[in-house]
Amino acid sequence: MCKRPSLVVFDLDYTLWPFWVNTHVDPPFQKSSNGAIRDRNGQPVNLYPEVPSVLETLHAEGIPMAAASQTDEVYGANQLLELFGLNCYIRYKEIYPGSKVTHFQRLSQQSGIPLSQMLFFDDESRNICDVSKLGVTCILVPNGMNLSLLNQGLEAFARS
Ligand SMILES: [Mg+2]
Repeated sequence: MCKRPSLVVFDLDYTLWPFWVNTHVDPPFQKSSNGAIRDRNGQPVNLYPEVPSVLETLHAEGIPMAAASQTDEVYGANQLLELFGLNCYIRYKEIYPGSKVTHFQRLSQQSGIPLSQMLFFDDESRNICDVSKLGVTCILVPNGMNLSLLNQGLEAFARS
């Protein structure tokens, strides 16, 4: 059987959704009766299209998930996770500015999961570089999270 991660961690901005929550959109957000989510100015906001399938795939395999974001728009980021219905998938959240090394140390403390058992997706090579030094398997996300990258990540973890 393939070696699986004990925790899969996602960055938020430009990994799960195609914007910076602290600059490109204007919280608070609202969900209309047709399910569309808009910011304060009526600008529609969406996840990358394959994100729900990615989270559903991991959920079906029983693999817990976490979010690690350096945004200073903590309220807006949490609101989007709630409105997009992602809180039922994401068990641990570390959302605050600063080095992602702190985010991962806290994730490991909170969950009791060793860093070497984690798989991480992020769009910034700086974060990939910092976090991989902790022993986490890291995958760069060039154009948003999708199923192909998820498989790439799971394969990289199995080889690690
Ligand atoms: Mg990002």
